[in-house]
Amino acid sequence: MDIPINKLTDQIDPDATHDIFCSIQAMDTGISNHEVWISQVHQSLICQHGHSNPADLCEDAHCRCKFGQWLYSPDTEVLKAHDSFHSVVEKHQQMHALARKILKKSENKQDIAEDEYRDFTSQAIAFKLEVRNLQYMLMSQVCVIDHLTGAWNRYAMYSKLHEEKERLARTRHSCTLCMMDIDYFKRINDEHGHTVGDKVLKAVIGFCRASLRKYDSIYRYGGEEFLFCLPDVEQDEARIIIERLCVNLGKYPIPLPNGESLSVTASFGIACMQNNSSVEDTIQSADHALLCAKAKGRARVCCWEDGLSTFK
Ligand code: GH3
Ligand code: MG
Ligand code: MG
Repeated sequence: MDIPINKLTDQIDPDATHDIFCSIQAMDTGISNHEVWISQVHQSLICQHGHSNPADLCEDAHCRCKFGQWLYSPDTEVLKAHDSFHSVVEKHQQMHALARKILKKSENKQDIAEDEYRDFTSQAIAFKLEVRNLQYMLMSQVCVIDHLTGAWNRYAMYSKLHEEKERLARTRHSCTLCMMDIDYFKRINDEHGHTVGDKVLKAVIGFCRASLRKYDSIYRYGGEEFLFCLPDVEQDEARIIIERLCVNLGKYPIPLPNGESLSVTASFGIACMQNNSSVEDTIQSADHALLCAKAKGRARVCCWEDGLSTFK
């Protein structure tokens, strides 16, 4: 399955992923409940004139059904940024309005026109498709992020970086990659436990995200290694940006559960994307530059050229 990463504009807050999974599940339940409801509507139309469910005849039937109660509850706050959510709301309301119309006619022993019945069944199908669409959007969103830190995961990284490479070839703009590795991170786990280690990872990435521009992206490359992609930034400019980040990160107090705080440093390796080298090669170059920063004593920034001179 090809996930439409390019459709995603903003990364989601990692704390929101649990709510999103719950929403995906609630929508599955909603679809199943409506399938049962649709068969009940048919039953009352065909077999039980005058015996519709009274709730289905109310003006606010769409708010009364279980799915409606969920749809209009605070639980769906996290979904409101999606256009598809508003389409689901609209299609759900219209489906209930069309059901009400034909059920009322049935109650009053009036004929139901063929197109009135068809409108209802078409709307029921459109509703289900829109719910599936929203579920798919949400799945694609949660599948491409690292749930601990909110950084994009590796799968997203290759898609996004190849897109960026194509953009470079078209526009001749620049783009710089930077690999970051937190220094002596194992000690944090050893001294404070993995839960604190996790909190530190999350805090470091929150700090980096706040320090970089909105259109820079952060990918979890592995463990405590992250790759930054800085579009429209030349290598020299990237060095200045990352050196500032490196210094500020070292001064950033990360709060611990016991009320104390700790700070960490990180090492950074920078390499500029070139038209004649692959994304994978640029990542390798940034990684080599990072090794150089580690070898030189950590808590510093090295560029690919520096790396070359050290490793030759
Ligand atoms: P260096 O300065 O050379 O980078 O040393 P380091 O201790 O940071 O590097 P090392 O590779 O020895 O250890 C990295 C540690 O990161 C080991 C691993 O258990 C830990 N780690 C990786 N991913 C996670 C995670 O998601 N949560 C936590 N708590 N620890 C993680
Ligand atoms: Mg590492
Ligand atoms: Mg490390």
